[in-house]
Parts: sequence; structure tokens; C-alpha cells
Amino acid sequence: MLSPADGAVVVPGDGARAAAAIPVRNADCYAAWSHSLRESRAMSEVFDLTCELIRRRSLTPDDAGCMDVVTDRLNACGFRCEDLSFREVANLWATHGESGPVLAFLGHVDVVPSGPEAEWTSPPFQPTVRAGKLYGRGAADMKSGVAAMVVALQQFVVAHPDHPGTIALLLTSDEEGPINLDGVRRVAKLFRESGQRIDWCVVGEPSSRKRLGDLIRVGRRGSLSFKLSVHGVQGHVAYPEKARNPLHAVAPALAELVATHWDDGNADFPPTTFQISNIHGGTGALNVIPGSVVIDGNFRFGTASSADSLRERTEAILKRHGIDCTIEWNLSGESFHSPEGGKLRKAVIDACREICGIEPEPSTGGGTSDGRFIAPLGAEVVEIGPVNATIHKIDECVSLDDLERLPAVHVAIAERLLR
Ligand SMILES: [Zn+2]
Repeated sequence: MLSPADGAVVVPGDGARAAAAIPVRNADCYAAWSHSLRESRAMSEVFDLTCELIRRRSLTPDDAGCMDVVTDRLNACGFRCEDLSFREVANLWATHGESGPVLAFLGHVDVVPSGPEAEWTSPPFQPTVRAGKLYGRGAADMKSGVAAMVVALQQFVVAHPDHPGTIALLLTSDEEGPINLDGVRRVAKLFRESGQRIDWCVVGEPSSRKRLGDLIRVGRRGSLSFKLSVHGVQGHVAYPEKARNPLHAVAPALAELVATHWDDGNADFPPTTFQISNIHGGTGALNVIPGSVVIDGNFRFGTASSADSLRERTEAILKRHGIDCTIEWNLSGESFHSPEGGKLRKAVIDACREICGIEPEPSTGGGTSDGRFIAPLGAEVVEIGPVNATIHKIDECVSLDDLERLPAVHVAIAERLLR
């Protein structure tokens, strides 16, 4: 277990921990490992649970038993655990308390593929400690976050069994997938229908830049895509009067879309951006006018524009150019923003100050997260999690110091809102 070559410590699983069952040499190694980690405060509940989750190969949408592990722990301390799985996606909604306000922690147990395992310094699904860091797929995104939220919820209800309101955990096994139909998107739809409210939502995604708490996400831009099919009439390039070229028809409209100033942005978000990502048209032959062309475009927008306004303005431009076309829209998420002075935002900032001794930078940058499905329910959403420098990479890792602090940050947030 201890590898003298690089000082790496493979974290043994439950089986290996039955001391009688392992050879003396390994038992000695285990004792040394256990001692050294206890010295560094690392062999804690959050560390153990993170390792247990990393060992499970939970590639989207397979939860690989992670939900059972979490359910058992939360059931044991009085949470009501509801299985909200849809088709092959596992979703878990665990609550403690009956009334409002509702503070929900949100995360995912699925991970992206490891990439070539041979390129990893230690196997991706074998949690390994090296130089103050825990390595493994999901170490940062976001099994450490899930483990920290579970441990924090346990600690919070033990310390405050009669807390006001409801403290909850929502987990999915479909965050990293390409479509995310049956994960938090589906659960949010269910909540909207059943009237389940969420007042505050802490997303445990890795938000930090260099150390835990240096950056929190207080909003996300929205993402709106379209697939534009322009219809023409195929023909010979030498007889354009007998054909209708869709490329020629759409080119001026695309130029106008690209040149349009959509908004100025505002104090919370940069200006809206528009990009064309694909143009597919033509037969490959040099003497054929194509019969159709398909164009993909995407908007990233803040609160200065809405998906509806961007849709209307785009369609007005296409109409003005008289193009024969059909357009399919896909809204991956509206933008959302937790305002300065928002209760959750304030609680998260105070918790970072208290537990990490750091002043977090409130940011609205980066891509989207599952918070985009919860925000439209009327929830204030803030993301706080470990350093994201290695997410989705070979040798993904989390700092043991950050990992140990994370449950305390979550408890501190809950104590500010539900006491
Ligand atoms: Zn993630």
C-alpha cells in the first residue's frame, strides 16, 4: 500500500480494513497509513466517504450504488429519502423537516470517463493520496462535494435536531451527460407540478480557483441554441435561374446576426455573445447549387436579455431577409443571479470568511450547472465547492485541507439560514 517510490498511499477499501484478513506487511502499511492520515486529520468521515464514492465507477448515467450509500447514511439520522429516478437515471431527494423555508444542497454522483487509464499516475477509480492530495476520477467534480454535503447534513441535524424549516439534499446521476433530460431537469418539473418549493440552493460543484472559498458562483449565464434549416432548390451552377441557392439567401442574414449588438450586459453579467458553430451545406461537387443548408448558433446571455427576447429578435432578422427556413430552438437554461444582499449569498460569503479565512470573489462566469433548473423554481442559487483546476482531466484531485474544511463550510451556511 505504501509505495516507497513516490510516497503514494492507496486508500484501502472496506475489505482491506478487516485487519485480520490482510497480510502482516499490508497491515503494517495500513497502520502507518492510518496513523499518518489521522495525524493530518485526513482520515475523517468526509475523506472516507469521498474514497468510497470514487471507488464506484459511476459513469453517466450509472450511479454504481452511490445513491444507496448516501441513502443509508441519511436514513440513519432521520432523513426521509425519496427515490425520484427516471428511466436509467438515479435521482435522490432527501429531506429533514416538514415546513419552510427549504435549504437544498445539490450535486451529482456521475463522473466523466477517465480517458486512457495508463496515463493516470494511479488508477482513476482507486482513491490514492499523494503529497496532501486525494486523486481519483470525481475527486473534485464532485464526489468530494457530495461527501461533504452528506457529512454536513448529518452533523447539522445531530447538532440541531429541532431546526426550523427543511434541510434537503438533491442528487442525480445525470449531470455530465449530453442531454440531462431525466436528472435535475426532470425533478424540477416534478417539483413545479407538486408545489415543492426550494428557497435556497447550494450547488456543490467545484467553484474555487486556487483554494477553497476563493471564488463562488452567484449566477450563471443562460445558453440558447438554434438549428436553422434553410430551404432552396438544387440545380446546376451554370443555370442559377433554375435553382435557388440557400447559402446565398442566408449569408446576409448571418452577417447581420453576427454584427448585432444584443445588449450592453449589466453590473452582474457581461454582454450577450452569439456564435455560429456549424454550417452544413453542399454536395461536395463544384457544379451543384445545394438544395439546403443547416446552421447551428448559440447565445450565452445574462439578465440584460431573456431567451424569449433573443428568439424574437433572431426570427425578426431572418424574416426581414425573406429566407425560406425552419428553426428549432433549444434552451439549455435561462440565466440566473443571486443578488448582492441575497440571504444565501451572504451566508456563503460569511461561511467562507469564517471557515476558510478568505474573502470569496462573487462570479457569474463559466458554463452552466444543474442550478439552472432549480433557479426558475424561485430559489436563490449559489455554487461553492473545491478547486476546479483538474476537473475532467487525467490525475483529477482535491486538496485534503480543502476536503476537510468543506463540511464545516456547509454546516456554517445551514446554521446561518435555519436557526
Ligand atoms: Zn460537476
